[in-house]
Amino acid sequence: MAGFLELGTKARMPLLGLGTWQAALGKVGDAVKVAIDLGYRHFDCARFYRNEEEIGDAFRQKIKEGAVKREELFVVTKLWCNSHEKPLVKKSCQDSLADLKLDYLDLYLMHFPMGFKPGEDLSPKDEEGMVIPDNTDFLDTWEAMEELVNCGLVKAIGISNFNHDQIERLLSKPGLKYKPVNNQIECHPYLTQEKLIPYCQSKGIAVTAYRPFGAHTLKPGDPILLEDPHIKQIAARHQKTVAQVLIRFHIQRNVAVIPKSEKPYRLEENFKVFDFELTKKEMETLLSLNKNWRDCAMAHCVNHKDYPFKADY
Ligand code: NAP
Repeated sequence: MAGFLELGTKARMPLLGLGTWQAALGKVGDAVKVAIDLGYRHFDCARFYRNEEEIGDAFRQKIKEGAVKREELFVVTKLWCNSHEKPLVKKSCQDSLADLKLDYLDLYLMHFPMGFKPGEDLSPKDEEGMVIPDNTDFLDTWEAMEELVNCGLVKAIGISNFNHDQIERLLSKPGLKYKPVNNQIECHPYLTQEKLIPYCQSKGIAVTAYRPFGAHTLKPGDPILLEDPHIKQIAARHQKTVAQVLIRFHIQRNVAVIPKSEKPYRLEENFKVFDFELTKKEMETLLSLNKNWRDCAMAHCVNHKDYPFKADY
């Protein structure tokens, strides 16, 4: 039986969800349908992933079949950086809703605290290959997101990739109407986030861990979590896979986790994480592997005024 995190709105967000970044067109719809049949109820989407339409078709079909009710699903999607200007926020949310074939979102996240030049190009770059920013302040973008709650398009709003200072700034914004209920951040045993997670939790901000298996497209020298001998040992002790240990690690920290797969056998494997428990010592071992190593570092954004990853946490 999957667990839940209670959000500041009192809504229950399933601890385990399905990630959909780089879930290929032609495959992602089937993955979502298989996932629903297996019991997944939390789906992590984003405008940036350009696959919301196929995911929406899968939701519609499964709801029509009676396999699941809309209110049993917990659907998250994210505002991309090229739509931070206030007038663009509602339109982008409505486009996501139309593609996902939903009339509300359970949670809408600001994907990054950084605004990019608006337009078709999702990662507009200058001649040096660095991102072209817009002139927005994430506090204004947040105000536009608050309006989405007021008009019923979204049940809750949150953030992603915000550091401690940026969260402090948001929480102390004069006239703040809604606090973020969630911060979605990269987290795994090589980036354990031991300061940011308790800080968020102390502020009533639930945390979701993305990229639980670490390096996505391996670059020379990248550490490989799925091959880590310490984690292999722990997995063998429980007769589980390394992937299952990497997912369980978050659940025991009260952190939601959203592994992505488009393979039915892995969707099933990744969901079987509620029938074992890591010991305190095993959790300590996993935490001791921290290298503050970040896969999703957004190197082309380091000069952006709101680049989040230079801060201590
Ligand atoms: P991930 O879930 O850590 O890893 C996905 C990769 O692992 C895929 O190549 C997948 O391949 C493979 N995989 C899945 N299950 C496996 C298993 N049991 N054993 C071995 N390999 C397995 O990385 P991610 O997709 O980057 O992160 C998860 C989700 O977090 C994303 O999909 C997205 O929804 C979200 N995310 C958010 C942000 C953000 O900025 N907020 C950034 C990154 C990601 P197959 O598909 O072939 O199985």
